[in-house]
Amino acid sequence: MSKKFEEKWGPHSHCVICGIAIPEGEKLCSEICKAKYKEEEEKYKKQQKFSYLFIGIMGAVVVIMFLLSYVYG
Ligand SMILES: [Zn+2]
Repeated sequence: MSKKFEEKWGPHSHCVICGIAIPEGEKLCSEICKAKYKEEEEKYKKQQKFSYLFIGIMGAVVVIMFLLSYVYG
């Protein structure tokens, strides 16, 4: 059954945005999905930057707390 499926469709990929079948090795089916994918990527990058910033601030707070307890402790 699965062999017949392979014969009929051949090796193929799916668009990561809308999921339709596309030629193997491709990631996206159209310019519209490419634009959407780029948008998602930008969003993800921004989120990542924000979480790095958050970790940095947390680290700074921990260091300040440590210094304060060292000075006043
Ligand atoms: Zn698509």
